[in-house]
Amino acid sequence: MAITGSCHCGAVAYTLDEDPVDAISCNCSICRRKGYVLAFATPDKFRLETSREAISVYTFKNHIIRHQFCKICGCAPFGEGKGPQGPMVAINLRCADIDLDKVTITPVDGASL
Ligand SMILES: [Zn+2]
Repeated sequence: MAITGSCHCGAVAYTLDEDPVDAISCNCSICRRKGYVLAFATPDKFRLETSREAISVYTFKNHIIRHQFCKICGCAPFGEGKGPQGPMVAINLRCADIDLDKVTITPVDGASL
């Protein structure tokens, strides 16, 4: 199965070649402000369907994760970075075309890391 997701205006859209069943809700400084519900995927499962030109990038602290958002509407459908297993894509399921009630969301205490 595959899912799609996008920002509000549609300038940033993607296809993910898997069906997320698990996600995290983290209380770190950026996740709580953005309201992220994140699922993680390897880059080979992720396909950006729109131009990178529409994306703005924010990084902080150790700059390992590219927090990305649409230059037009400000929504943040996905980020990219390096996880413990290598390159990863963090999918913000709040911007995905799925039923969030069917995803198991686990709280993560990122604020304490
Ligand atoms: Zn947008």
